[in-house]
Amino acid sequence: MLLDHLQAKLDDLRAQSLTRFTRVAETGTAPRQIVRGADGLARELLMFCSNDYLGLAAHPEIAQALAEGAQIYGGGSGASPLVSGHSRAHHEVESQLADWFSPWIPNAKAIGFCTGYMANLAVVATLGDAQAEIFSETLNHASLIDGTRLAKATVTRYAHVDLEDLRARLAASTARIKLIVTDAVFSMDGDIAPLPGLLALAEAFDAWLIVDDAHGFGVLGASGAGAVEHFGLRSERLIVMGTLGKSAGLAGAFVVAHATITDYLLQAARNYIFSTASPPAVEHALLTSFSLIRGSQGQQRREQLTALQARLRQGMTALLDRHPALPWRLAPSSTPIQPLIIGGNAEVMALAAALEQKGLRVPGIRPPTVPKGEARLRVTLCATHTNDDVDRLLAALEDCA
Ligand SMILES: *Cc1c(COP(=O)(O)O)cnc(C)c1O
Repeated sequence: MLLDHLQAKLDDLRAQSLTRFTRVAETGTAPRQIVRGADGLARELLMFCSNDYLGLAAHPEIAQALAEGAQIYGGGSGASPLVSGHSRAHHEVESQLADWFSPWIPNAKAIGFCTGYMANLAVVATLGDAQAEIFSETLNHASLIDGTRLAKATVTRYAHVDLEDLRARLAASTARIKLIVTDAVFSMDGDIAPLPGLLALAEAFDAWLIVDDAHGFGVLGASGAGAVEHFGLRSERLIVMGTLGKSAGLAGAFVVAHATITDYLLQAARNYIFSTASPPAVEHALLTSFSLIRGSQGQQRREQLTALQARLRQGMTALLDRHPALPWRLAPSSTPIQPLIIGGNAEVMALAAALEQKGLRVPGIRPPTVPKGEARLRVTLCATHTNDDVDRLLAALEDCA
């Protein structure tokens, strides 16, 4: 019965061109990767899909730091952080993050999590107690939405980047605790949330601003601290979540906020308390990652990303001008996430397959990840891409246009 039930659902997904599958990567994360496709054959593809924006995942210094961490600490952490899993390296990562963010968040303290998904569940569900109202941006990441589902708070959604809509909802609220929750860089669109306006509303309505900077950390700001540095914000009301599996090239996540907030998360966040701490070698390597991000290499890589973005946007705009009948649309993005909106599910998957035939991997993103009728190619750029790589993508898209 269960099997029939699930098979019917799988058949339905297939009929809507919504089936997903994993591919086996035979080599490390890099613009050129050997990937085994659905046909079982391994081939080298030029990848425009990872979130390793700074190209640190395969950086030799990080690989070396991981090996060194394994020499010092061995493999797993063995227990949750409050039991015995919290190593010297975990401690050092948290204190470096607190120090790094102190220009933007007074009295900052950081707390580490194994993944961004866990960190978002923790911060939204734990702070969103029965006395709270959560104001959640419509295009928020699934993990933030799941956090609101776990929270005891009232949940109100506000329209995408719409400060007036949010203002009206805040004004109508009688909740004692108000939490505004937003992605900093929207993961499927690449646009940046209007954080200065959101923070001004938080201040005007005695609310707190939870910012998921999964895609901004490492990429935005002079030191790579992300969106809060990019905008030069400063407030105790900022609660920033960052992931360490994207630009930082490793794994994990953090929440950095006023010390009272992180102290409370440590006492009450169930997925912090009841889950094994991340491997200490990963934390040890994160220290190398942080110094790369904050140093001259990070800066050069951020400059390279900006140049690649400009080249791609210029080329795409010219391509769309040459084909005015084509329904494709380039999303207005100033980040390494550069989506090309195609429309239908079958169309976007056919285009992704055609690109793969040409040796390029650009993932098609379909509902429910994006709204119906807005299926898209989600192009992501990495600092380790070259101008030639971008030109190859543009030429392949021109062939398919
Ligand atoms: C990737 C992502 C997460 C989850 O982070 P993981 O460390 O991959 O679990 C959370 N929020 C956003 C916006 C993301 O893109």
